[in-house]
Amino acid sequence: MSEVITRFAPSPTGHLHLGGARTAIFNWLLARHFGGKFCLRIEDTDLLRSKQEYTDSILASMRWLGLDWDGDLIYQTKRTDLYNSYVDKLLATNHAYWCSCTAEEVEAMREKARATGQKPRYDGHCRDLGLGPGEGRCVRLRLPDSGRVSFTDLVKGPIAIDVQELDDFVIRRADGMPTYNMAVVVDDHEMGLTHIIRGDDHISNTPKQILLYQALGLEIPKFGHVPMILGKDKQKLSKRHGAKAVIEYEKDGLLPEALVNYLARLGWSHGDQELFTIDELIKYFDGTSLNPSQACFDDVKLAWCNAHVMRGLPLDALAAKVQPFVENIGLGVQPIERLIPLCQMFRERTSDLLGLAQSFRPLLVAASDLSFIDKDKNKHLTAVGRTHLTKIRDILSSLEPFEPEAINQALNDYVATNNLKFKEVAPPVRTALMGFMGGSHLHEIMAFLGRAETLARFDLAISLCQD
Ligand code: GLU
Ligand code: ZN
Repeated sequence: MSEVITRFAPSPTGHLHLGGARTAIFNWLLARHFGGKFCLRIEDTDLLRSKQEYTDSILASMRWLGLDWDGDLIYQTKRTDLYNSYVDKLLATNHAYWCSCTAEEVEAMREKARATGQKPRYDGHCRDLGLGPGEGRCVRLRLPDSGRVSFTDLVKGPIAIDVQELDDFVIRRADGMPTYNMAVVVDDHEMGLTHIIRGDDHISNTPKQILLYQALGLEIPKFGHVPMILGKDKQKLSKRHGAKAVIEYEKDGLLPEALVNYLARLGWSHGDQELFTIDELIKYFDGTSLNPSQACFDDVKLAWCNAHVMRGLPLDALAAKVQPFVENIGLGVQPIERLIPLCQMFRERTSDLLGLAQSFRPLLVAASDLSFIDKDKNKHLTAVGRTHLTKIRDILSSLEPFEPEAINQALNDYVATNNLKFKEVAPPVRTALMGFMGGSHLHEIMAFLGRAETLARFDLAISLCQD
């Protein structure tokens, strides 16, 4: 097989969303699996809706996802001459012709077809008029009079349509700009594409593109059209379903590996395996096993995927990733060494970096800034709580060394000597340290805070205890 070349061809009319990201991932994986090339092309011909800020945002999301591309970035708006040189070839070989019909005239033809129960189409009025270029004239592709266009879709299997379903579509508009199908075919050929995986909203374009390849005498790439991603209610995916743009996930502290893993599984499978490393995805993704039925987005499963990736990271790597989130939520620039024990204590308890950073808050603020949850305070900071806190504070104030094991031992000894149960003692201590009934092991929390900060929290809690 010749070198596999794939592409992602976003239109910069919005941020990268989940469907686009998944298309990019499939194409990237296919190229990486076969050691080929993955190209990126910006389809910015819609001048009204395309914005540089969206191109920048899409590129940033691609980089964040780790979807590196090969070769130069291609902008369609810079290639008008190239597209028109192909239009000229089609004109020269009589595969295309100039058309002087106005929009109103074409609309009237369509109307007429509709009225007689036929498919609305251009009726070929200018086909044999031998017109040349001129003001207001477009160029149309001359379709074969009969026959079928067929191809084997990588996802949907064999597809065939009768050319009579189509009409002589425009390839160069009256303003001199190529149409979408013309530009895409020229680019896909020039870039050497062998495989095109895209959303099935483009499937109706594929027969037209194949007719263009045939008219130009070019090799036709393989196409795979993946069904749209839907919400759980089988409706078009939107914010309502918890779906966000890729940049939003980055802001909320999702790990790109998790999003790639989750999206790759949305419409593709490898046995029952749910969790993959990127290397495994590359190893297994060969363009087969793409599912022709629609996949539904599940934000709970995505969070689960993310929690898994978070747990698998080395602690120092996780600490480095959570560091900017800690800073962003106003907890200062914390050294990695300080974040490592926090990650160890809290990473099993949250499913994203933002949540992880937030869970550190009680342990990174000063005792005086600790906020208490009323319910827990009222329940546990009582007269009985005061007794335990006072006695334990006394023990801790002279405990040596002030380290996890010794602290744990001291707590257990206190419970045993006083004939208590751990669950009678732990709640006031936990509320004193965290401000609420959450957090990690008490001895780990105290060792992290250090003696002075631990005692300060005991003092504050003792002062808050109500009889
Ligand atoms: N620019 C098109 C889009 O964003 C993709 C075209 C294609 O993949 O052929 O939907
Ligand atoms: Zn015409």
